Amino acid sequence: MTSLVFITGASSGIGQALALRYYREGARLALVARRTAEVERWAAEQQLDPARFAVYGADVADLDAMARTGRDCIERQGVPDVVIANAGISIGMDTTEFSDLAVMQRTFATNNVGLAATFHPFVAAMNARRSGTLVGIASVAAIRGLPGHGAYCASKSAVVAYCESLRGECRPHGVRVVTLLPGYIDTPLTRGNRYSMPFLMPVERFADEAVRAIQAQVSYRVIPWQMGVLAKVLRLLPNALYDRLL
Ligand code: NDP
Repeated sequence: MTSLVFITGASSGIGQALALRYYREGARLALVARRTAEVERWAAEQQLDPARFAVYGADVADLDAMARTGRDCIERQGVPDVVIANAGISIGMDTTEFSDLAVMQRTFATNNVGLAATFHPFVAAMNARRSGTLVGIASVAAIRGLPGHGAYCASKSAVVAYCESLRGECRPHGVRVVTLLPGYIDTPLTRGNRYSMPFLMPVERFADEAVRAIQAQVSYRVIPWQMGVLAKVLRLLPNALYDRLL
C-alpha cells in the first residue's frame, strides 16, 4: 500500500482527484498549492481526517519555497512514496507576438522549473532509501505543436524529455519515474480554455487510470486510451501532412 503521496496543484482538477483516489486507498497526503484555503475547504468538504493530510502553501516556480516545502514535509510527514508534479498552467499565446514571450517565461517557470523543484528535495532521500516513484504530468500536447499553444506544447515536450533523463539517473537507485500524458480531462483548466474541447474525460476516471499506471510503474502512458491511439497516429503522421491539417 502507498503510505505518503506528495501532490502539487492540489487546489483543483486533476490534483484533487488524484489526492482523493489515494486517500480512499488509505494513503496519507501532502497537498501543495498557492491557494491553501481552497485545499482546506475541499478537504473539509470531503471530510478528510486531519491526521491523514497536511497542506503546504508554495508557488512551484519559487525554488526557495519548494526547498522549504520539501524539508517541512520530510520533518512533519516523512519521505513520500509517490511525488506527483501536477501543478501546471495553460495560457494561449500567439507565437509570433513578442509581447507573448512573458507567457513563455511563466509557462516554463511553472510547468518545467516547477516540476524539477517538486522532485528535487526528495530525490536524494528516495535514492538512499532505494524506493519511491516520481510522477511527471505532461500532456498529449507534448506530441505535436498546436497553433496558439506554443508555450504549453513546448513545456510539456520538455516534461517528457526531463522525466526520461531522470528515469535513467534514478533507476540504478531503485527509484522509478512515471510520465503521464493526459488527453482532454474535464477540469477548470479545459473549461477555461478559449477553444471548446470535445470528448472531455471525467476527472475521476482519469485519476483511476493514472493511479493504476503509477502502481504498474510504467515509464510513459497516454491517458485516455482513445487519445493514446490518436497520439500514435499524430506521432506517425508525416510532418508535411500535419502541416496541411493545421
Ligand atoms: P487546473 O487549472 O484545474 O489546476 C491547476 C493546479 O495547478 C491548481 O491546483 C493550481 O493551484 C496549481 N498551480 C498552477 N500554478 C501554480 C504555481 N505556480 N504554483 C503552485 N501551484 C500552481 O488544471 P488541471 O487539473 O486540469 O491540470 C493539472 C495538470 O495536468 C497540469 O500540469 C496540466 O497541464 C495537466 N494536463 C491537464 C489536462 C486537462 O485536460 N485538464 C490535459 C493534459 C495535461 P493554485 O492556483 O492554488 O496554486
